[in-house]
Amino acid sequence: MAISRGRVSFKLDNCKGCGNCAVICPKKIIFLDTEHMNSWGYFPAAIKDEDMDKCIACSSCGLMCPDGIITVEKLDEEKK
Ligand code: SF4
Ligand code: SF4
Repeated sequence: MAISRGRVSFKLDNCKGCGNCAVICPKKIIFLDTEHMNSWGYFPAAIKDEDMDKCIACSSCGLMCPDGIITVEKLDEEKK
């Protein structure tokens, strides 16, 4: 079966830390990074490097972001 993989990036300085993307992610790999505050004073969304390969490129996070600051890049499909 072919599994889609994705690479997600955030415009961190525009993130309001609403958490919508973290709630909707079916793989639960997005979190609010409470160790780093952005220039607006919010804890921005993030994905740990080691979790990025769990992304299935569903784009739900990008669709849920009220500010459209998430880019989901679909990578080649991987055979499982
Ligand atoms: S594209 Fe889907 S699986 Fe990947 S981080 Fe966004 S919501 Fe999660
Ligand atoms: S949905 Fe957008 S604004 Fe909200 S936490 Fe995620 S990236 Fe930040």
